[in-house]
Formats: sequence, C-alpha cells, structure tokens
Amino acid sequence: MSIRLARTIAEVRGEVARARARGESIAVVPTMGALHAGHAELIDRARAESGFVVVTLFVNPLQFNDPDDYRQYPHDLEADLAVCAAHGADGVFAPSVAEMYPQPTSTSVDVATVTEHMEGRFRPGHFRGVATVVAKLFHIVQPDRAYFGEKDAQQLAVIRRMVEDLNFPVELIEVATVREPDGLALSSRNRRLSDEERQWALALYGALRRGRQLVESGEARASDVKAGAAEVFAKYPEARVEYFEVVDPEQMQPIERIDGPVRIAGAIRVGKTRLIDNLRAIPPATGRE
Ligand code: AMP
Repeated sequence: MSIRLARTIAEVRGEVARARARGESIAVVPTMGALHAGHAELIDRARAESGFVVVTLFVNPLQFNDPDDYRQYPHDLEADLAVCAAHGADGVFAPSVAEMYPQPTSTSVDVATVTEHMEGRFRPGHFRGVATVVAKLFHIVQPDRAYFGEKDAQQLAVIRRMVEDLNFPVELIEVATVREPDGLALSSRNRRLSDEERQWALALYGALRRGRQLVESGEARASDVKAGAAEVFAKYPEARVEYFEVVDPEQMQPIERIDGPVRIAGAIRVGKTRLIDNLRAIPPATGRE
C-alpha cells in the first residue's frame, strides 16, 4: 500500500478515523523532517507497536528563537516520504504554516520548572513553541502512543509534564539516541557541518562520555564531573560550549551532589551550527558516604 500524504488537518483526521474504525491503534512520530536514521528508528518502533503510524513533518516557526536557524532548516519532502515509506509508516502529515496557524495564536502551552535551564534558558520561547505544536498535533491526530528521541531529553521531559498536567490520553515512548560510529548523535543540523566542523562536533560526545565515566566511577560532585568534561572541551577550542550541566532526570534542574541517576547534557556551537546531546549516567550503588 502506498503511503498517504495529508496536507490538511481534515485529511489526516479522515485517515486516522478510518484506521480507528478498522480497530487499529494509532501512533504518531512528530518530526521537523530532513529525516535521518534517528527518525527512522522512531518510525520502526512505532511500526512494531501500532496499527496505524502517522509521521508528522512540520518545521514549526513558533519554536525557533533564531530566524536564521528557521530559514536555513533543511527541507526535503520527497526524500522524507521515501524514508517514511521504507520504514512502513502509513500516513504522513505535512501541513503548511498557514494550515497549522491560520491566525496568530492567542493560546500557548507553558510548562514551568522543567524548562528553566539548558535549552529553555538559551532558547527563550523554544519550549512554548514545542509544547504548543505538540499539543496541537496530539489534538489533530489523537494518537494512542507518541514517539520521541532521548536525543532531546529535555523536550521529552517537557512533553511528559504537559501530558501529565493536562491529561492527554497518550502514552509517550522514549527511543534511545542513534549515533554515527564515532558517537556523533544524528541530527538534521549535522548536514550543515563542513568536514572540519564535523570533527570539532565530536567534542560534545567526548565530554559527555568523560562525564558519564566520572559519575559511574563514583564521582559525586557535579562540579568535578564538569571539570573533567572541560578538559575534553579544551582539546577542541573551535567548539564553543553554550552549557554543560548535570541535572536530575525528571525536573531537569542542575544538581551538585550526585546520589542517583542523572542526565548530563550540553550544547555547543561549531561554526554557525548549534548542536545538543546528552547521556544518562548512574552512580555505582556502593553506599559510600
Ligand atoms: P526533530 O526532527 O529534530 O525535531 O526530531 C524529531 C524527533 O526525532 C524528536 O523526538 C527527536 O528527539 C528525535 N531524534 C532526533 N535525532 C535523533 C537521534 N539521533 N536518535 C533518536 N531520535 C532522534
């Protein structure tokens, strides 16, 4: 069966209603397109666990705080449709900006606390845009399950809070970060990197791995974990660090004392490209101190 491309809310709702009438469960995979193997992994998981899989392709202007980043964001509908078809998606919802926002929105979703640091701090308004568009997509598609990448761990924490606080009847599924063989997390923005920048981009994963190693070997002070990571960053002076934090995995608040699972997360800029990544780290259960 060929993949269905819906350009309007009415069309995708029709597709979903027909699938529901056939008794199928509905999965949604929200993306901004320019699909890569990380997105494909989300589609594969959704395919394995659901009857009808909708991939949404929408570069959401509301979540871009940098107009250049929005303008330069890659688009490739034909290639994206091929990826969706190859991974067994049933439908693609690729609306225009006018379809999603026929008038300036007066209503938005603001999630407090979990948005305070890291991406929320360095990209003002970003998570309001994300939560608002995901709320709209959930209302449009009305999925049973929605698939998100661990790559954007703070985003998933924000959506989790929104779903809990506003009682969305949707199960959120987290999918592990897909990486290049050398560890670089796949990202649509990687295609903007020159060969040289591609090497500098490895700074972030290197620093995260060093941080995780320190936590796993029992380092209980976040400041010492960050100091270890800073030694890695020092080898890559071309990578400009925006933030590097050790946070609690639910509320995404920076912590100093590490006595349970944490998330180590960072953002860097190489050339004109901004990259983020994170790793979960679990201290040894030694009961020391
Ligand atoms: P984006 O198109 O960048 O907004 O991402 C759409 C979804 O794909 C989000 O849930 C991301 O977390 C997820 N994603 C992006 N990159 C990766 C990756 N390398 N591995 C797994 N999931 C990813």
